[in-house]
Amino acid sequence: MLNKLRPTTLFECPRCSAGYKVVRAEAPDPTSSEIACLSCGEPLAGREGAFVLKYFLVDAPKERQRRSA
Ligand SMILES: [Zn+2]
Repeated sequence: MLNKLRPTTLFECPRCSAGYKVVRAEAPDPTSSEIACLSCGEPLAGREGAFVLKYFLVDAPKERQRRSA
């Protein structure tokens, strides 16, 4: 991997294609927080090694909700 610090990376939800900016932060305590896609509820990785991942929605998918009423 690169030594260069890359504070943010981009992530795309595999399910709904929502675009997220992912920020890695050092985890002060090993609490595992459940993270889910804001758009579709797909579970997202909340940790990467010693870091916690924070997701910021930057590209919401187009509304293509099924009207299953
Ligand atoms: Zn999603």
